[in-house]
Amino acid sequence: MSASSRISFYGGVNEIGGNKILLEDKGTRILLDFGKSFKARSRFYEWNETPRVGNGIGDFLTMGLLPDVSGLYREDLLSLAGRKTKEDRLVEALFLSHAHSDHADYISFLREDIEVYMGETTKRIIESLEFERNATLEFEITGYKQRPSERSSTRIPRKISTFKTGSKNIAIDSIEIEPIHVDHSIPGCYGFIIRTSQNVIVYSGDLRIHGKNPSLTRDFIEKAASAKPDLMLCEGTRIDETSITKERDVFDTCKYFVERSKEHLVYADYSYKDVDRFSTFYNIAKSTGRSLVIHPKVARYLTSLSSAGNPLRLPPLDQNILIYKPRGKSGAYDDRDYPKEDREIYDANKNTICTPDHVKHYPSKVIIALGSNHIDQLVDIVPSEGLYLHSTSEPFNEEGEMSEEKMYNWLERFGLQRIHVHCSGHASGRDLNEIINSVQPKFLVPIHTEHEGLFKLLHGSKVKLPELMKEITL
Ligand SMILES: [Zn+2]
Ligand SMILES: [Zn+2]
Repeated sequence: MSASSRISFYGGVNEIGGNKILLEDKGTRILLDFGKSFKARSRFYEWNETPRVGNGIGDFLTMGLLPDVSGLYREDLLSLAGRKTKEDRLVEALFLSHAHSDHADYISFLREDIEVYMGETTKRIIESLEFERNATLEFEITGYKQRPSERSSTRIPRKISTFKTGSKNIAIDSIEIEPIHVDHSIPGCYGFIIRTSQNVIVYSGDLRIHGKNPSLTRDFIEKAASAKPDLMLCEGTRIDETSITKERDVFDTCKYFVERSKEHLVYADYSYKDVDRFSTFYNIAKSTGRSLVIHPKVARYLTSLSSAGNPLRLPPLDQNILIYKPRGKSGAYDDRDYPKEDREIYDANKNTICTPDHVKHYPSKVIIALGSNHIDQLVDIVPSEGLYLHSTSEPFNEEGEMSEEKMYNWLERFGLQRIHVHCSGHASGRDLNEIINSVQPKFLVPIHTEHEGLFKLLHGSKVKLPELMKEITL
């Protein structure tokens, strides 16, 4: 590889997630992902604690949650931190592989004149999540209001362009990017084939070939191989694992236990953003004579993703689904207790509303799919015993969730027995090796992994180990 293309790593090195990769060719620079590093963050903050807002970007830079690089960040956040604000822009554009926090969330800090490219579905997911949450410093991806907030109430939108399968390649000066769909645990994921003036670089994003849509990743592998890449940036989350649980195994195992739980409560904990898992639980509920109880925000998410011809072929929100209505502030179910968007859902689904009282009286008729975020609903449901289907956890944390210890305490308090079964979003070690051997890059850079050494062992001198804040030139 000529020295004209260079790759630097601001994150995603020797850790799972936090990908922030800078690619430079003939003076043009682009970023691949700009995610939140849960590892760096958890050294100083609990998952539900946040760095101080009043110091803008200052706490994030000082504590190493963001790279201290000039020309990347929003002026309002630099100004609050007492930093120099007039800087030349470092990068032209950013390419986002998918909507997971460890790839997407810290776009929030970037200058609004950096063009952001993402898949159509990813944009829809991010907009849907932004609608549900209050804007925080760490999650204002599609736009933001200047801070301190009294300075302006006008929302500054980011420049976002979308692509989809079949879109034309995107050129940023001498750098051409070809997004290709891959299968992972959230819809709308892409890997990239990147052609610079001298080289071909492949970026895997996060991927697997044991999920429900392996053909997506197979397409990526085939195209990546025929591009004869000089270098492959390859995720290695599960390079050290050989076991493969498929989505079908999640269905079979959970169904088996639900059938044997007979009159008892079944509580399900899975990532609602993973629509494959939603389909699995929809089918478990349907085939065991129960209804799947979902939160109104999940109903909105599914409705948003199934609009425009339901490209992801999601199951319908039909009679097999109930919408959960928790007790509100009044202690009852007063309309005024709920935000407008929830009231709309309740009004539109009058016959399929499910309250904690309903669950209490008919525990054998439902699967409560509220996840660990709403586990406090057990206080109103008061099960005597039951089953907790835990179907999210990886040996790491991609989205931030309750600690296992606290979860176990809740389960013990309410007599719920936990079954863990999960189909990972990441390829196993053997599958990763198959992918790498098929793509046949000249050089291999392991990212998004804590097992770089295993790459080295398996692929020898092909492997170049990335270092934080350092460049790779070949
Ligand atoms: Zn990831
Ligand atoms: Zn991911």
